[in-house]
Amino acid sequence: MARKLAAGNWKMNGTGASLAEIEALAKAYPNPGCDMLICPPATLLSRLSERTSGTTIKTGGQDCHAATSGAHTGDISAEMIADAGGSHVIVGHSERRADHGETDSDIAAKTAAVWRAGLVAVICLGETLAEREAGQTIDVVASQLSGSVPDGADGDNTVIAYEPVWAIGTGKVPTLDEIAAVHADIRSRLKARFGAAGDDMPILYGGSVKPSNADEIFGVADVDGALVGGASLKAEDFGGIVAAL
Ligand code: PEP
Repeated sequence: MARKLAAGNWKMNGTGASLAEIEALAKAYPNPGCDMLICPPATLLSRLSERTSGTTIKTGGQDCHAATSGAHTGDISAEMIADAGGSHVIVGHSERRADHGETDSDIAAKTAAVWRAGLVAVICLGETLAEREAGQTIDVVASQLSGSVPDGADGDNTVIAYEPVWAIGTGKVPTLDEIAAVHADIRSRLKARFGAAGDDMPILYGGSVKPSNADEIFGVADVDGALVGGASLKAEDFGGIVAAL
């Protein structure tokens, strides 16, 4: 049985002033019924990790380089994220795939780097609108799953996030049946490939989750939580999602 997780991705948002939001969240949810994770911009990770130490909130990175260190200007490694107090790293977010041309094999290499550093990889998958309209959703997601998740994945080192690209930041959400179909397919492929460990890997839904739709989305089979962008920036909104899990 997979653990429940509410994960927030702040993307390129937030300064030191934003840390107060997280203190409010920690105070409001001292004993949440799920794990809570916030992935701030790299500039805030150390400070956020210090402020959340001793609370139920975990912290993480939004991306990492596959190497441990070296001449890679502007990049950070999984080991650096661990050093800054992070426990998780998001890899393969559709904005990284689109803006930086990241491929499934890049994402598999980054996932291996996350595991090397002893952290948990949150691996993102999802179809574009054109792919959905062409009836290719299941094939696209299955292909990303196969190419982005290395051998050795289990419930302790990997979280899968299904995020339809067209639902991210748009206010559009697939129907509950559409979410159920993709999550069921991901679960069955994880079980076929990883055996019992495939049952333990949380599968998050991401794409315009907010307090008003979280409850019904979390009622869908094999939805073990959410990866949240916009609604993770305010403690009140993210708290509403945490409360629904
Ligand atoms: C995301 O960026 O992963 C995301 C799901 O964003 P939003 O919640 O804003 O749609």
